[in-house]
Amino acid sequence: MTDPIVVAIDGPAGSGKSSVSKQVARRLGYGYLDTGAAYRALAWHALEHGIDTSDAASVLDVSADFDYSISLDPDAYWVRVGQADVTDAIREPRVSDAVSGVARVPAVRQSVNALFRALVARSGRPGVVIEGRDITTVVAPDAPVRILLTAAPEIRAARRSAELTTHDSATVAAALHQRDAADSAVVDFLTAAPGVEVVDSTSLDFDQTVDAVLGVIRAALSVPAVDPLQTGA
Ligand code: C5P
Repeated sequence: MTDPIVVAIDGPAGSGKSSVSKQVARRLGYGYLDTGAAYRALAWHALEHGIDTSDAASVLDVSADFDYSISLDPDAYWVRVGQADVTDAIREPRVSDAVSGVARVPAVRQSVNALFRALVARSGRPGVVIEGRDITTVVAPDAPVRILLTAAPEIRAARRSAELTTHDSATVAAALHQRDAADSAVVDFLTAAPGVEVVDSTSLDFDQTVDAVLGVIRAALSVPAVDPLQTGA
């Protein structure tokens, strides 16, 4: 079997990356791989064990028995650690606050990156949309399509606060800013690497952003005779 086509999409929180990537995968009949979920699930796992996630040695320790699985089906998304379904739990603010500590450990990054490549290889799909922070640069630097999805900081904060209805927007903006600052010390996800196309969603709604991303993909790949983009498949 030939390797799936990889569409690599990076961007900060609130850029619309996850929902856009999922919809693009649906439109193309591709798999969807949310890489942030692995870091979040490991942070959740560490918190369950009462680990201080700012301590790299403890994080590495607890990662030894991290039994992680994720669905690549954009219509049936779930994340599990062992038998526990953590799909919703990994979105809790306590996990968002802890995740950067986990993600900055180089050995953790290496092992999840190997996992991502294995998940893509055995996806059984013609292609996979992979989204994260270092996909265009580290996980899949040779992908035929590489996109950086951005949006102005205030727009990103507003989108995030609309998702987390129980939190006031100032708190959400502060948490987002703090996480971006911690993350950007590890991976520069705000600047496009050479050859990476920028899609700025600041003044685009969801459908327009999906169309802009599909436009980049269409331009980068030779469009098949029966075009799944046209049929809406
Ligand atoms: O994309 P999401 O907000 O779910 O990512 C959660 C966290 O996982 C990020 O804040 C970052 O610390 C980490 N991450 C990463 N590299 C990726 C994806 C996510 O470091 N490729």
